Amino acid sequence: MSRTAHTASYYAASANPSPERPSLQDSIDTDVCIIGAGYTGLSTALHLAEAGYKVVVLEAARVGWGASGRNGGQLINSYSRDVDVIERHHGADTAKMLGSMAFEGADIIRQRIDQYKIDCDYRPGGIFAAFNRKQMQELEARHGLWASYGHDQTELLDTAATRARIHSDRYHGALLDHRSGHVHPLNLALGEAAAIESLGGQIFEDSRVTGIERKQRPVVTTASGGQVTADYLVIAGNAYLGGLVPELSARSMPCGTQIVATEPLGETRARDLITNLECVEDCNYKLDYYRITGDFRLVYGGGVSYGGGDPASIEAFLRPRLEKTFPQLKGVKLDYAWGGDFLLTVSRLPQVGRLTPSIFYAQGYSGHGVTTTHLIGRLMCEALKGQAERFDAFGSVRHMQFPGGRAFRKPYTALGAVFYELRDRLGV
Ligand SMILES: Cc1cc2nc3c(=O)[nH]c(=O)nc-3n(C[C@H](O)[C@H](O)[C@H](O)COP(=O)(O)OP(=O)(O)OC[C@H]3O[C@@H](n4cnc5c(N)ncnc54)[C@H](O)[C@@H]3O)c2cc1C
Repeated sequence: MSRTAHTASYYAASANPSPERPSLQDSIDTDVCIIGAGYTGLSTALHLAEAGYKVVVLEAARVGWGASGRNGGQLINSYSRDVDVIERHHGADTAKMLGSMAFEGADIIRQRIDQYKIDCDYRPGGIFAAFNRKQMQELEARHGLWASYGHDQTELLDTAATRARIHSDRYHGALLDHRSGHVHPLNLALGEAAAIESLGGQIFEDSRVTGIERKQRPVVTTASGGQVTADYLVIAGNAYLGGLVPELSARSMPCGTQIVATEPLGETRARDLITNLECVEDCNYKLDYYRITGDFRLVYGGGVSYGGGDPASIEAFLRPRLEKTFPQLKGVKLDYAWGGDFLLTVSRLPQVGRLTPSIFYAQGYSGHGVTTTHLIGRLMCEALKGQAERFDAFGSVRHMQFPGGRAFRKPYTALGAVFYELRDRLGV
């Protein structure tokens, strides 16, 4: 059987050596079966394996084949909607609980990298860059909000201080998060997979789950002819799950976003773009995000295609955005261009919960999932061990269907985005 290849990204081209894992063709029994070897599945499996559970991860393609192996690599703290919005929409109790966990995910990643010696080019520091006074006021509010939840390692930067760090004249100011950072995302996933296996966990690739029997001990079947019976099942297929679990896909929508990687620029030229090599995301509704890789390329991402997928030419779409931010790179050679799908929810908060007492799920991080997936893995493990308070705090978030239902959710959401983009452009 031919093996599924990773998308042709810079990350796949620079991935650390990793074993080819078999596809599942037998019937096996385990404590916990996990669908999907992205960060949600891997983080859950690693926490469980550390706690002594027997885990089996079933991946439709390759470890890190989905968003986790293709993303911007930015360790963004908190959630796609911040704690103040959570309080307004979901109440003070939920906000307090989620706020108390908002900075845990990035710490888990750093701890994993240290403990398992994962070689993934980790660099500290992340910058939120504001285009105008209004966005700066929002960053000032975030600075205070995060401090009230115990994260006091952020620093407001005025225009001059921002330009000393990001050599672009587009920004009005910024918030520097010293507890953020960035990684080679696929190598993080591969390192976590190796850690799971070092603890006795099993991972099968090219093993797409095509059926779930919702029994007390769930049974899943794979397209490769395998079957797993487990005490618990964790569904972590995110934007690539398709229609396998209709009640999950009804309240979420895959969205595409794209990235290009320049040729290697050399350290001097790279530091002439971002002096201290932090990762950067801007504050627009449809935001641009970028960073310098371990081998000193600029990786530049942006855009959202509602419904998933990529524009006809990723380079034609992203080059003008990159060159607008850094005119000094006009005509730079782009070695790689790729896209991937993340999963959007109406609330922009993850969908987390149980389908039955023994079937758990987590998905829908709405574009900011690198850190939250790692937090969720820990919470999933706590819940299986019987301490579900923190898991249930996420589970208590109500998820609505997208306006327009499945037929019209794409155009309706795109229309809504036009309104926010216009506000960003006008700075109001
Ligand atoms: C281009 C891009 C850039 C991004 N940049 C950032 C960023 O810089 N910072 C940030 O915080 N977030 C970012 N995100 C979001 C972040 O990558 C995701 O939120 C996160 O990786 C989701 O992890 P996951 O494990 O839930 O899903 P995924 O990584 O998508 O993994 C799901 C896996 O499940 C598998 N699967 C699906 N269905 C089945 C099945 N039936 N059987 C078996 N396996 C199945 C898939 O093949 C896939 O490998 C970005 C996303 C994209 C696409």
